[in-house]
Amino acid sequence: MTEASAVQPSHRGDARICRGCWDQMHVPIPIRGPLALPFRAFGITRSKMNPNICTICERSFRYVKKQSHVAASATILFADIRGFTQLSERIERIRLSEIVSLFQDRCAQAIWAHDGIVNKTMGDGLMAIFNFPIVRTDHAQAAIRAALDIQRLCAEALGRLQLDDLKGQPLGVGVGIHSGDVEIGEFSSFRSDFTAIGGTVNLASRLESQAEAGEILISRDTADQAGDLASGAPTRLLTLKGIDQPVAARVIVNQG
Ligand SMILES: [Zn+2]
Repeated sequence: MTEASAVQPSHRGDARICRGCWDQMHVPIPIRGPLALPFRAFGITRSKMNPNICTICERSFRYVKKQSHVAASATILFADIRGFTQLSERIERIRLSEIVSLFQDRCAQAIWAHDGIVNKTMGDGLMAIFNFPIVRTDHAQAAIRAALDIQRLCAEALGRLQLDDLKGQPLGVGVGIHSGDVEIGEFSSFRSDFTAIGGTVNLASRLESQAEAGEILISRDTADQAGDLASGAPTRLLTLKGIDQPVAARVIVNQG
């Protein structure tokens, strides 16, 4: 895949041991190479959420942390294809699945390159978590860099599609990012995968819903930790569902 080379590789590359288990517990779980084979026999493999973490930190969360959920500081990223609902009424299903695959693949590349996990996918959208289980003290910056890569990679991939039905409308991606405290764990009794919940997650989702194609909307809390990445980014006042006061967001548009 030629596009993969366009992403900045993670500075630690393909990890031999699960970086999630190492960062959370200092336990080395082999996920690549010959030492990983016996683990694979017990169903412990690389996670689909991030190939540098394993299914122990993904699926067996309560055994790893000895509790059903933990409080953590994290950055949450939501992304989706703007205008997808209207588009889905006008074009063939096969083209829709092609668009969704391009979007999901490019987003995953970008998120993994910056140590995030693709926690949930929802067709034309997804949710990513930074700083869990792979620890990144600069998680706000990692999420913004991932968002910039998402915008660049998706613009390249989606821009190449010949979609006559769009009638000149650009097909683009909107991103929302917020940093703060979340509860991480398994909150369902019938599904074993973990996620993050709380006000931080809700605000990230609402910011994303207000992002135009090509835009990355970041909260003030994320901007405060963003360093140069948010410098010069204009402020936009947003009225968000369920929040009385207008919310000030910074708007980053990928120039590259
Ligand atoms: Zn693990």
